[in-house]
Amino acid sequence: MFSAYMLRELGSGVCVVERKTVWGGKLQSLSAGNSTDTDSPDNAGIGTAGLWIHGEQTDVRCLANQLNVTLEESHDDTLINTRGQWTCGGAEGLLTTQNGSYTAPAFNLTDMDGDTDDLQDRMWEFLLGMKATNPLTGATPSPHPAKSCASYRSMGHYINTTLGLEAYAFLIADMPEPGNLQFPVDVCAWIQSEIDERTIRSKITTQFIAHGANRNSSYQFVATGPGGVSGRVFIAEHLIFASGPLDVRKLGGNVGRRLAAAPEAASIRPVEVAVYDAFYPQRFWEDYMVHRYGNMPVRTDANCLVFSEFPGHTYFQVKNATRPVYATDLRCIAFWRQLHAASGMPGIRNYVQSSLQGLFPLQEVPALYLDTFVVHAVGWHLMDYGASQRNVSIASIYSWAASPLGDHANLCLAGEAYYGISYGWTAGAWRTAAHCIKQRFAGVLSGAALAAVEYVSSGCNGRARFPNEIVLPRNASTPGLNPATGKVLPTVE
Ligand SMILES: Cc1cc2nc3c(=O)[nH]c(=O)nc-3n(C[C@H](O)[C@H](O)[C@H](O)COP(=O)(O)OP(=O)(O)OC[C@H]3O[C@@H](n4cnc5c(N)ncnc54)[C@H](O)[C@@H]3O)c2cc1C
Repeated sequence: MFSAYMLRELGSGVCVVERKTVWGGKLQSLSAGNSTDTDSPDNAGIGTAGLWIHGEQTDVRCLANQLNVTLEESHDDTLINTRGQWTCGGAEGLLTTQNGSYTAPAFNLTDMDGDTDDLQDRMWEFLLGMKATNPLTGATPSPHPAKSCASYRSMGHYINTTLGLEAYAFLIADMPEPGNLQFPVDVCAWIQSEIDERTIRSKITTQFIAHGANRNSSYQFVATGPGGVSGRVFIAEHLIFASGPLDVRKLGGNVGRRLAAAPEAASIRPVEVAVYDAFYPQRFWEDYMVHRYGNMPVRTDANCLVFSEFPGHTYFQVKNATRPVYATDLRCIAFWRQLHAASGMPGIRNYVQSSLQGLFPLQEVPALYLDTFVVHAVGWHLMDYGASQRNVSIASIYSWAASPLGDHANLCLAGEAYYGISYGWTAGAWRTAAHCIKQRFAGVLSGAALAAVEYVSSGCNGRARFPNEIVLPRNASTPGLNPATGKVLPTVE
């Protein structure tokens, strides 16, 4: 979409071929207003897929600025409900000393390396090979277990073998996408992508929520391509294929078969995710937030809600949009599919309603007034198990996508699937599009077009802040209560 938008803005003839009637792919939102055109709280929409810009990502923020998408700064006040208990704030809250200094889910872990940094961080650093000592045993194994990454079938398998089942339960309790630990993935690529991610952004401090992400009508740009369109045959001088590898595998024809046969195409695994969005007449979650304008994700192992988001943002104040279900857990995906097949939207709605009531027993969870449910068969992608044995890496997929049939063919692949750095997501979709334009189309584009792409790549020439971004106050004016007891929960900042 970005490539087409940019090319059309810069005067090229562009033909966009889209399978669905709505533009924008997974960047859709459910909106409570009559119009999806205007950024206003009355039209507040919440994403049914991509919603957040995580971390610095100055290129993506610059792009939002160029496209007039308003962003609100966001801070998470995570509430965790695991093993029947609540905790609040950061990862340390998940640990309780055996003499029980405060109620929090107990994990039977010992902390043996004498380091005082966050235990969760140390566990991940050990798993990624960035620390030599196992924090739970104090031992320094040689060779480091990360060196045998190719022998594990999933991250869960690697974590269980290296740190044990209790450590796995502890780490998964604070993960928004627990399914990522369960799929067969290329553990070496996962480790590499996490290291790259940490190197690029030493600490993710900020996230932004985009307003009106599906303002479709502003972005319609169907124009007849230079080659013309006839029936289902499209003739193009240059082609950017902006869909994932599953679609590549379905293309057929001599080009499709060549693309599908590439080891890269076979090394990218789609991740399924179930999402349920709901709008409420009032905010029943406010007493449990620590910051008035924050975002309150609830991580829970109860009822397959998995990760529920309750925003406190000003943008949502009128409409009270929430995302009560965001689930990648394989067991939960199967559960949601079955429930939907057996009892449709009423079944999903009732089940979520009673689950939320169970989580917030001291509130009356009101009847919602708008909702939607979707299971994305392809939410995002990870490197599949065995990729590194096939000599496929994050970098090789990225280069292959820019030139999958060699330099003589004017074809490239763009999209999140081809950018495997941790949660590449929308950043990956735009970066591969920019890469494709720069690598494959530089010769046919005007200097102005290339300069425009470079400008976004550079984060609007290295700006730290953008005029389309709203910074919200971060006060502590909400009670931060334990939903089960109504008493204040200790917070870890
Ligand atoms: C629940 C969920 C939450 C997410 N949260 C975030 C988030 O907070 N932040 C973030 O950055 N990312 C997030 N993502 C990921 C983000 O939505 C995707 O990475 C991003 O939308 C991918 O963009 P894309 O252009 O690569 O693919 P898509 O958005 O999937 O676009 C592909 C397009 O190709 C079309 N298409 C497919 N096949 C054909 C065909 N044969 N002919 C014509 N058209 C075809 C599709 O209809 C679609 O419009 C989330 C995803 C999900 C599912």
